[in-house]
Amino acid sequence: MPVIKLHDKYFKPFLSHAEIQTAIAAMAQKIAADYKDETPIFIGVLNGSFMFVADFLKQYQHPCEVSFVKLSSYQGLTSTGIVETLLDLPENIEGRSVIILEDIIDTGRTLKELVHLFTNTNVKEFKIATLFYKAEIYNGEYRIDYVGIEIPNKFIVGYGLDYNELGRNLKEVYQLSQKHMINLVIFGKPGAGKGTQAEFLKDKYNLKHISTGDVFRYNIKNNTELGALAKSYMDKGDLVPDEVTIKMLQDEVEKNPDASGFIFDGFPRTTAQAEALDAFLATKSIKINATIALEANDEVLIQRLLERGKLNGRTDDQDENKIRNRFDEYNLKTAPLKDFYEGQGKFHSVNGIGAIDEITQRLAKVIEEL
Ligand code: AMP
Repeated sequence: MPVIKLHDKYFKPFLSHAEIQTAIAAMAQKIAADYKDETPIFIGVLNGSFMFVADFLKQYQHPCEVSFVKLSSYQGLTSTGIVETLLDLPENIEGRSVIILEDIIDTGRTLKELVHLFTNTNVKEFKIATLFYKAEIYNGEYRIDYVGIEIPNKFIVGYGLDYNELGRNLKEVYQLSQKHMINLVIFGKPGAGKGTQAEFLKDKYNLKHISTGDVFRYNIKNNTELGALAKSYMDKGDLVPDEVTIKMLQDEVEKNPDASGFIFDGFPRTTAQAEALDAFLATKSIKINATIALEANDEVLIQRLLERGKLNGRTDDQDENKIRNRFDEYNLKTAPLKDFYEGQGKFHSVNGIGAIDEITQRLAKVIEEL
């Protein structure tokens, strides 16, 4: 089984056809032990489960019925959380034992909608079986009665599962290859242009842009607990405590198991954060490829920030004292990261003064030489 390419991404072999079949045979045996004396209804969840259901039924040679439901929730790679019923339940399920056959259970969001379909149906028993199960991220809301194979939180395709509709016909399961992943830290003082450049680089290299400042601002705007916690620090131009920021960053990465790589913008800002980032990425067998610093002098930056403050309404951009405090925080806590990344041979410096597209080209040159 070689590495394959679907659309823009590379996938490497993960589970062989034989491993999958063995897991399905074991599931069929367990379910038969519980249900062979009645006629259960198996309900497959389309589209992903069609192969699983077909192979499962070949192993389940006892009286049973089969039907399908179809919900839609995934748009491309990331879950939008929007779930719609496209094909509804069969009508004859009252008083019957129903066993859901899912191809994969990850966060549990789709499962919740699925379970909702069965409210007021008066089934005799309702069980959930899944071929693949991401225990690490499952929210635990419902008991999963039968599990085929527990898998880590990796994006997988094949055996019914797709990446933007490709890959469903593969007999084996593949996982996203991280060898082709690029993870960048974009580094620099407030106003250096990190966010602006990250927006261009993310499109150019198909990366997920995580700006910790933006995540904090989003939380403040939506009055979340995290927002309330961060606000007092941000208002003064102080750094938010490491433990809060690190946890938040990890959550953002976890939300994107499918990313081809990340641009970390505004993180890490302390040595503790840099160390935590390395340790965390190591648990996912990935690493930072490069830290690229955008260099510009303070007087240019202050003018840029004050201009930006007029346009975006950010109070921390409108007050020169707060800006200077952010520079002090940078010099004290963030600047030492240059040595940290130089020690790893990953530090690259780019002139951050000039036209936006010129600077993008300087950054692209560094990335392409990696
Ligand atoms: P930024 O949008 O990157 O300029 O961040 C705005 C503010 O958010 C900073 O001044 C900090 O208060 C807070 N912040 C953003 N990222 C971090 C981080 N990595 N560590 C601590 N505080 C952060």
